[in-house]
Amino acid sequence: MKIAKIPATNQQFPIGKIVCLARNYAEHAKELGNETPAGPVLFMKPATSVIGDGDTVRIPAYSQECHYEVELAVLIGKTACAVPVDSAMEHVAGYGVAIDMTLRDVQNQLKAKGLPWDIAKGFDTSCPLSGFVAAEQVPDPHNLNLKLSVNGEVRQNGCSADMINRIPQIIAHISGIFTLEPGDIILTGTPAGVGQVRSGDVMDASIETVGGMTVYIQ
Ligand code: MG
Repeated sequence: MKIAKIPATNQQFPIGKIVCLARNYAEHAKELGNETPAGPVLFMKPATSVIGDGDTVRIPAYSQECHYEVELAVLIGKTACAVPVDSAMEHVAGYGVAIDMTLRDVQNQLKAKGLPWDIAKGFDTSCPLSGFVAAEQVPDPHNLNLKLSVNGEVRQNGCSADMINRIPQIIAHISGIFTLEPGDIILTGTPAGVGQVRSGDVMDASIETVGGMTVYIQ
């Protein structure tokens, strides 16, 4: 079982489902040639996809093009079923740094055929995740710098202010479809600058006030 930890408060949550937003930053949607969607586009990763700081992403043999996407992760601390926007933030326990590892070649082939993306997004090691900080430590989650470097070179440098759907709207929307439980995690989408990593590369991902992690590629 994979565990999400908030070290400062000694809280631990067994990780449940990981609900992810696609195309939640306009500049990123554009760089992949996608239109900005009318509403949130959702997919999920299984809890088994999670690895931690200092761990290694293992690119599956069925892909030749693995991409990084740094994202603000929201940890749910209280059950949320069809909650309104106004009270949505009461269900957040903390924030962390995630990398939504994506097999872009596989995803593009599946998209072209109208098939689900699961094997491009949810494979083992596809969700590097840092420790979490308590929600109270992050007064404004919509004004945070997100950064990802590969081998010391900055590739993504964005701001959570540029999210199209903001966290209260995201929680309200998701919780109307899938009940969110303590230990569930939401990945809120990635800013522009995504790209390929190869075996031997080292990624450093960080989010202002939230934390950071180093992840290796094999
Ligand atoms: Mg993503």
